[in-house]
Amino acid sequence: MENKFGFIDENLKRINYNLNEAAAKYRRSDEKISLMAVTKTVAPEYVNYAVSKGVKLLGENRVQEFQSKKDFYDKSAKVHFIGHLQTNKVKYIIDSVEMIQSVDSMKLALEINRLSEKSSKITDVLCEINIGGEESKDGISRDEAKELVYRMSELKNIRVCGLMTIPPPFESEKFLYEMQTLYNEISAENIENVNMNVLSMGMSNDYETAIKYGSTLVRIGTGLFGNRI
Ligand SMILES: *Cc1c(COP(=O)(O)O)cnc(C)c1O
Repeated sequence: MENKFGFIDENLKRINYNLNEAAAKYRRSDEKISLMAVTKTVAPEYVNYAVSKGVKLLGENRVQEFQSKKDFYDKSAKVHFIGHLQTNKVKYIIDSVEMIQSVDSMKLALEINRLSEKSSKITDVLCEINIGGEESKDGISRDEAKELVYRMSELKNIRVCGLMTIPPPFESEKFLYEMQTLYNEISAENIENVNMNVLSMGMSNDYETAIKYGSTLVRIGTGLFGNRI
């Protein structure tokens, strides 16, 4: 019988191969790079198959979709929220995600902090940067990023762990480089209560280049699961 998950095996092999090649070419051997499977529109059986083949991290974009799928997910994988998050929706995800990567305002940070305190926990977050200054994208501007990280560092129930971005698709390399520069600048501040160790960038079309510029976490959707329906 034909294995209906076979394409995931092939894609995962290719991605792991490319990740290892890029890491060997551009990075120190002790640097760890995480692979996230981005699961929007993908049915849980396919997601779980990827998990059974070694994927340890899932990325969710939409609150409602995540709510409808999370009970079916293999619990051995961790989930990060990576999509646009409205303040009034934080309550639906706060107890089921390991990290929120898409924090781009103090208003959102305050709500995550408030609900984390209620749940007696500290939530790891990344600051999402609109590195290309695109109207259509979420994220805080490059110029305002450092100040936002400083302000977020005052909140006791969140911990800033780094930065996330989606660069403009046609000039990806230039902006991946700018992200690396910004990440290094903010890391060098050694801000109290901030633990800079995640630079989340690189998607199906630019993950190898992202590794060149210091990414520690690549987020791959179509490259793994095929085109979204
Ligand atoms: C959809 C999405 C991805 C994955 O994009 P692909 O091009 O399908 O790999 C990564 N990050 C975020 C925030 C996304 O919304």
